[in-house]
Amino acid sequence: MANGTSLMSSFAEEINSECVIITAGDGDSARRFSVPQSLLCRKSKWFENAFKAGKTKEIALPQDDPAAVESSIFFVYNDSLIFKTGRLSIEQRSFDLKLCYNIWSFANRCLLSELQNAATHRACYVLNDSNHDNDIPTITLRECFEVTTAESPLRALIGDYCVKLFEKHDENDFHIEELEGCPGLVATLHQSEVVRRKLDARDFPRYVKPAKLAETLLMKEEEPRRDAVEWRAWGGWDEIKPTCKDCAYSSSTVRPVCSRCQRERCKCYNQTWVLLCSGCWPKL
Ligand SMILES: [Zn+2]
Ligand SMILES: [Zn+2]
Repeated sequence: MANGTSLMSSFAEEINSECVIITAGDGDSARRFSVPQSLLCRKSKWFENAFKAGKTKEIALPQDDPAAVESSIFFVYNDSLIFKTGRLSIEQRSFDLKLCYNIWSFANRCLLSELQNAATHRACYVLNDSNHDNDIPTITLRECFEVTTAESPLRALIGDYCVKLFEKHDENDFHIEELEGCPGLVATLHQSEVVRRKLDARDFPRYVKPAKLAETLLMKEEEPRRDAVEWRAWGGWDEIKPTCKDCAYSSSTVRPVCSRCQRERCKCYNQTWVLLCSGCWPKL
């Protein structure tokens, strides 16, 4: 087992390794990124294979969003994505959501499963954010859906979000025509409606509890990783708050409860504790 010091020195070696070039996007918007090969290849088998075969040190990914690749490179160095917290404008939420969908697609292609987890977690957070009254515009939902493939779990998030909107608004308020002709969307909406009937009310929409539904969301770690530190708009690093085991969001209401009876105080024998937020405490 490597200790911290050897990890730090191997990281220094990795960032000193020869750089490879990734060109993301197409035409005028294309951007070139230079990344140390050893670092990139340790994180991604796909890049390891791509650079092992030939003498090539350059790879072009015209279908990928340059902003998403930029964020992914940050992740390769830092093992986290950083987003604003607190009350977000609808423009910021829409931007973050689209970025997460694009990051997920890139990470899926390049076999960066931890990055997929981080992008999924942020997408769940953005959809789940109840600090405001504005819904994510249907046009944004459509743009996000269009970058997914049929097997992407991120389709289910949009399906669930739309089902929630149908229930919240009457049909006149919901611009369904903006979703028309989007391949695969109707099937996704049907699946979400089926899930809505089957799933416990507290677990629907599925993005409310990404930790609990990690398997459905293809989050590959036991404990979905989240952006551990976040940059606050008004400056300063956010402190790391405890994370709820059930939903994976951090909040000041997270407390240890007995893992057997789920009470804060109990007389269970050989107690073990689990951290849950107030939204996930069982109604006893
Ligand atoms: Zn929770
Ligand atoms: Zn107990």
